[in-house]
Amino acid sequence: MPSSFVIIGAGQAGIKAAETLRAKGFDGTITLIGAEHWHPYQRPPLSKAYLKGEMSEDRLLLKAPDWIKGAGIDTHLGKRATRLDPATRTITLDDGTEVPYDKVLIATGTHARWLHLDSADLPGVETLRGIDDTRRIGARLKQAHNVAIIGGGFIGMEVASAVRTMGKTVSVVEAQERILARVVAPEVSAYLETLHSEHGVNLRTAVGVDAIVGNGHVQSVELSDGSAVDADIVLIAAGAEPTIDLAFHAGLDLARGIIVDNACRTSVPHIYAAGDCTVFHSARYGRLIGLESVQNACDQAKAAAASMLGEPVAYDPVPWFWSDQYDTKLQIAGLSAGYDRIETVGSIPEGRFSIRYYAGGTLLAVDSINDPRAHMMARREIAAQPPALAA
Ligand SMILES: Cc1cc2nc3c(=O)[nH]c(=O)nc-3n(C[C@H](O)[C@H](O)[C@H](O)COP(=O)(O)OP(=O)(O)OC[C@H]3O[C@@H](n4cnc5c(N)ncnc54)[C@H](O)[C@@H]3O)c2cc1C
Repeated sequence: MPSSFVIIGAGQAGIKAAETLRAKGFDGTITLIGAEHWHPYQRPPLSKAYLKGEMSEDRLLLKAPDWIKGAGIDTHLGKRATRLDPATRTITLDDGTEVPYDKVLIATGTHARWLHLDSADLPGVETLRGIDDTRRIGARLKQAHNVAIIGGGFIGMEVASAVRTMGKTVSVVEAQERILARVVAPEVSAYLETLHSEHGVNLRTAVGVDAIVGNGHVQSVELSDGSAVDADIVLIAAGAEPTIDLAFHAGLDLARGIIVDNACRTSVPHIYAAGDCTVFHSARYGRLIGLESVQNACDQAKAAAASMLGEPVAYDPVPWFWSDQYDTKLQIAGLSAGYDRIETVGSIPEGRFSIRYYAGGTLLAVDSINDPRAHMMARREIAAQPPALAA
């Protein structure tokens, strides 16, 4: 049994893999390398309760520092891995430290996509991925009145909801015809758009951003239809990109992320990958998929740990995800891309319903609004179907 396992990326997948290795009795060396100076923490509250000041930093932590120490997990926090050399099985950190490995797990997640707009370098223009981002945005919010959010995806809409609750003026600019267009049916977008409008969000859909404007500090955002929205803070919430630079230079096979098999093995021996930075072939959906969710980070981390211990499992989950906006909970089971028909169950006016997405007779996915029971049942129902839904 190899005795030295290294995990690059001290996030949701990284710590879950370390925990699983110890739970399965691995008694060799585990080294966790994290670019952030924080111990591993959960990100979902960063755009929700933590942004609103309703949650302490302690509660964000996925494992107490004492637990990590007690489990004999060595950490290099605040250190970025800059090189992974499969030939010598060595990782180099940004302070020059060399860390040898027998097996390594890459769990480097994603980073926020940046938009190269005029004046995007002005103070007050932000992205949101980590604790430090939320702290900086929170500090700015103490003085700010107007918040402009570029991008009507999950993070954009969650921040809109949190910041409206704090009494700020909020504009959301979305280039598509509707918010969340990439992930939910028009009915769900329409429901959430109404929710946000009723809470006073200025929703600007089907319009692009031409420039950010300011003088020493951001002041407004110019839109492609010639109008502008005032802004003391601009949040660029334009999606995320997998962090795969190490993997690229190490010669791993890549698509949108690091390609792994169903046991989280990469194309290079002794190198595994898990979480947001990966893509894998889903027999269930008949295509290569990449998932950015807590569910996938945790489940893939467990699969990777088993695989590193020589007990490969076949990972092919029913993906699931949630988003909280105001008092509304959206839960998604499965992947809806490729649907040809939807069915609505429940009552949209009463704010408790599910949209069921089908391809032929096969249930691909279910979006549930304020109905956790329907969500749990949907996960079971999709799981019970034969694989190769082939959207
Ligand atoms: C604001 C926000 C809200 C979210 N809300 C939800 C939600 O409601 N529901 C849900 O399911 N998911 C949500 N997510 C997504 C979820 O948090 C991610 O899917 C999950 O964190 C992925 O885990 P991961 O371990 O793959 O990556 P991460 O948790 O991002 O961890 C990766 C870590 O690797 C580090 N790293 C990167 N490169 C290096 C390097 N070279 N050397 C060392 N360290 C490195 C990074 O700094 C980071 O700490 C949210 C994400 C964000 C940002």
